[in-house]
Amino acid sequence: MVFIILTVLTQLGGVALLLSRMFRHRILAFVVIYLVLAVAAMWVAPAFGRVAISCFQSGPLQVQSEVYCGLNRTYVTPEMRDVLEDAADAMARDYPGTVTMLLDANFPFFDGFPLLPHLSHDDGEKADLAFYYTDDGQYVPGDARGPLGYFAFKDGPTTCPPAWPTLRWDMAWLQAGWHDYALDELRTAAQMDRFISDQRVGKIFIEPHLAQTLGLNDPKVRFQGCRAARHDDHIHIQLN
Ligand SMILES: [Zn+2]
Repeated sequence: MVFIILTVLTQLGGVALLLSRMFRHRILAFVVIYLVLAVAAMWVAPAFGRVAISCFQSGPLQVQSEVYCGLNRTYVTPEMRDVLEDAADAMARDYPGTVTMLLDANFPFFDGFPLLPHLSHDDGEKADLAFYYTDDGQYVPGDARGPLGYFAFKDGPTTCPPAWPTLRWDMAWLQAGWHDYALDELRTAAQMDRFISDQRVGKIFIEPHLAQTLGLNDPKVRFQGCRAARHDDHIHIQLN
């Protein structure tokens, strides 16, 4: 059971658990082996077509939380890295000081190994980004409404009926705990326009009521469906 949970969460954690059983101090061994595997993955994954977006990088593209790096969840194909960096650079050029924050991306190895709960994040060609936010009308660089960047929903009209089973979580109990930031519509719309005009990007998921608010009207901008996770707390992009 622990093996499965660790594998589902981090891809490499289950392997670290198995290897740690050869040692007397299993917990210590697990921690050391996991760290070694996680660092080694950064060097080995490029040979298998994925690169890590580092939590240590500064500049226009950053990772929202160290949690994502610690769990090996920030891997993308080199093409996706270029798409993300190009978009972040352009945003910082057009709106100086803008920082684009990566959330969950993909694991380092194997196509078809999904990064739950994101069923489609299984090939290095998908990435989630935090929205840009304002506080009292001022852009807040590198910050989201919650520490992980997910689950702070901007409610709006939906045609989705209540359903079960579903990944369309409302997390109502969490909503009062977030920073009281507003969606930065100017920056978010500008970023979306950039992805729409980027030939490498095939699909963008954002909740329909937000697409309408932001004036997005393009076949690339899709609704993810009623049983998939809500996209009024983050943006999902994927390559062609
Ligand atoms: Zn996604």
